[in-house]
Amino acid sequence: FLPEIRNEKVITPVMPTYARADLAFEKGDGPYLFAQDGRRFLDFGSGIAVNTLGHAHPHLVKMLSEQVAKLWHTSNLYRIPGQEKLAERLVANTFADTVFFCNSGAEANEAGIKMLRRYQHVSGTPEKNRILVATNAFHGRTLGTLTAGYSDKYREGFGPMPEGFDRVAFGNLNELRNAITPNTGGILIEPIQGEGGICRPPEGYLEGVRKAADEFGMLVMFDEVQTGIGRTGKLFAYEWSDMVPDIVSSAKGLGGGFPVGALLASEKAAVALPAGMHGTTFGGNPLAMAAANAVLDEVLKPGFMDHVLDMSQLIRDGLDAIARKHPGFIAEVRGMGLLLGMKTVPTNVDVVAKLRELNLLTVPAGDNVVRLLPPLNITKSHVDEALEAIDACAAALTK
Ligand code: PLP
Repeated sequence: FLPEIRNEKVITPVMPTYARADLAFEKGDGPYLFAQDGRRFLDFGSGIAVNTLGHAHPHLVKMLSEQVAKLWHTSNLYRIPGQEKLAERLVANTFADTVFFCNSGAEANEAGIKMLRRYQHVSGTPEKNRILVATNAFHGRTLGTLTAGYSDKYREGFGPMPEGFDRVAFGNLNELRNAITPNTGGILIEPIQGEGGICRPPEGYLEGVRKAADEFGMLVMFDEVQTGIGRTGKLFAYEWSDMVPDIVSSAKGLGGGFPVGALLASEKAAVALPAGMHGTTFGGNPLAMAAANAVLDEVLKPGFMDHVLDMSQLIRDGLDAIARKHPGFIAEVRGMGLLLGMKTVPTNVDVVAKLRELNLLTVPAGDNVVRLLPPLNITKSHVDEALEAIDACAAALTK
């Protein structure tokens, strides 16, 4: 049986780091994906909260096509007008004074972790190099972000891991305050946990985090890789609270399907990374910036966020009706905007598989949650279609 003995390779050319569904798509149109075998799927996963405007959105296609014909990449050795435009728009619409561009969520978080640490270094308190992180957190798959994240499974065998993270229960302000030592310099949390199961902290928690940080000379960084770019019905989820963070990471929805990451920061925090202290070859290249600017053209239109919230309410109302009709299927509905989590009674993996059979794509998360992350520009007819599939799934799995 051993491959060496049979002198045969069993590994696939694509490194098998994912247990993939046996399904390949060849075309997308709005919230629909078309498989190679002709089946049409309603995409309520959006490539894990990425396709902000669905697939092949005409404005994105136009802006990217124009840029493709002009200029792809120049490096950060030169000014990049698309970067300057995107940064100005993010600054104008958030707490941030300045933005660093990269290519993914994990990279944005790495940059943020470096900024948290080095802020204390340049402030004359280099001993404050430890960062408080939360249970059930997910921040990415690099060594640093894996250490900040909760899952032991994801770290298994990859040690030694970087040092300097202390974990507290997400949402528990007392525990957070008690965990602060003279060596604590920053707090890194998701304002709503995504992979952990679409978990919102209790009322007042984020404000309490801010207060504790101010009291003890610490910075607050939010990982908004999943929650940002309108997903919750605000450009960034922190806007739902009565506080502002010092640093916010963004990715996923920012490029609408093109890999773009960003680290937003206040001037106070960003002095930690002067010229030469952080970098990237690809980050913020003209092609990526064309994609992200095109996404913002749509997301920043008046009424866009109201639409997200309207669609969210329709889904929630529909899920409530399904929960009443099929007891023993939905345990709880969580989240905000179109970052919705349906905790199910059957296993979430079974529900996601059954929904896929019914041509609805969703994404599992922790705590037995099925994530509903449709493109933000879906309409009522798409919601109705999704609810019909969820109703049929509930009927099938509670029989
Ligand atoms: N942070 C959060 C909250 C995420 O949900 C994810 C991805 O799921 C990441 C970071 C990592 O982003 P990426 O996969 O782009 O590195």
